[in-house]
Amino acid sequence: MKDFLTRNQVPFTWFELERDAEAGRLLAANGGDAEHLPLVVTSTGQALQAPSTMEVADALGISSTPSLPFYDLIVIGGGPAGLGAAVYGASEGLRTVLVEREAIGGQAGQSSRIENYLGFPSGIRGGDLAWRATTQARRFGAEMLLTSEVASLDVCGSARVVRLANGAELAAHAVLLTTGVAYRRLEAPGVDAFAGSGVYYGAATTEAQSCRDEDVYIVGGANSAGQAAVFFASTARSVTLIVRGQNLERSMSHYLIQQIADLPNVHVRPCTEVIGASGDDHLERLQIADLAAGTKEEVETSWLFVFIGAAPCTDWLGKEVQRDENGFVLTGPDLLTEGRLRADWPLERQPYFLETSVPGVFAAGDVRGQSVKRVASAVGEGAMAVALVHRYLELL
Ligand SMILES: Cc1cc2nc3c(=O)[nH]c(=O)nc-3n(C[C@H](O)[C@H](O)[C@H](O)COP(=O)(O)OP(=O)(O)OC[C@H]3O[C@@H](n4cnc5c(N)ncnc54)[C@H](O)[C@@H]3O)c2cc1C
Repeated sequence: MKDFLTRNQVPFTWFELERDAEAGRLLAANGGDAEHLPLVVTSTGQALQAPSTMEVADALGISSTPSLPFYDLIVIGGGPAGLGAAVYGASEGLRTVLVEREAIGGQAGQSSRIENYLGFPSGIRGGDLAWRATTQARRFGAEMLLTSEVASLDVCGSARVVRLANGAELAAHAVLLTTGVAYRRLEAPGVDAFAGSGVYYGAATTEAQSCRDEDVYIVGGANSAGQAAVFFASTARSVTLIVRGQNLERSMSHYLIQQIADLPNVHVRPCTEVIGASGDDHLERLQIADLAAGTKEEVETSWLFVFIGAAPCTDWLGKEVQRDENGFVLTGPDLLTEGRLRADWPLERQPYFLETSVPGVFAAGDVRGQSVKRVASAVGEGAMAVALVHRYLELL
């Protein structure tokens, strides 16, 4: 909930039952019970007990309904690729709508600091980048449907029809898939039970204040884990990076390895993995295996952040949109086998570079097979996809 509110730029105050007297008072005043938390009280006084993010979005008026019966371009996913496409699509005169299920910014929106994005020499917070891009897309007239999950995509003649999980339908000439990837779960006994109560997936920025002077553990050896380690080092007492590989050199950018080496309270533990978690209501202990020494140990901590790679958000797509063995969407030249197209490709021309196996449906960013998993490349592909949509529309 904290992550959702922060990423949607909704100001809030957070009270913990164990720590703040105000929390108990609010719970009693709203007839809530401590078994069903969080209790969300809106500025108009509406109280929602253990609500879904969708219910909160509705109560706050930040979800919306489509304003047009038909669009030129529907962009699915509000990460850097989707935002790039929304800015270019709308600025070049396409009636563009972007549909996002959680919060604008995607993975980049969860990054504490993006250091290598062009034009920001001292880095930029992922949330700030997302907010700037949203403002820019809206200024050009792009429509944003927030907290709306896309459930299916169909072809009806020349129209591409997108159905939302709430039953609403949108139609357009072209669709761009920019649904990115979602974090893989850490599979170790006990870990699942503490998701949201001590175990977090990529929600680093919103939890930093709660971890002040605490011992924090991070699993992962890639840039996202490294960024989180640097970020927590400024508030936590200690940060321990649990890395399966022998070192960070093969998986993390040099600048981050350097920053970590300069931080006295960050410890890197190569050849280790988390093999279990335990506690009462909240995470209290982790079991860690040293793979090189063949030993196990238990450490006390209430905070585990997991950054162990991600899988593409493509489960909802039908078979007609071809994917590789890991679920990433195939586009353009990757659709050819031995230089030839599948028999069911219906057109004379070959698919455009970012076009999927369904004409008029394009893919960009992390969700696309063979893509470079970076903010700049996602934004670039979003922009390039719009150019290809123009080419597609000319021949309609
Ligand atoms: C913590 C972290 C730090 C990073 N730091 C850097 C960095 O410093 N530099 C760098 O270049 N890269 C960095 N990256 C990688 C970079 O953020 C990604 O490559 C980039 O965000 C990919 O953009 P995208 O738009 O393709 O996908 P995503 O960012 O994954 O966005 C996809 C969006 O689609 C939405 N979505 C998914 N399914 C649906 C659906 N069915 N309906 C509606 N919406 C849906 C998701 O909610 C999400 O918002 C970082 C990643 C992480 C996690």
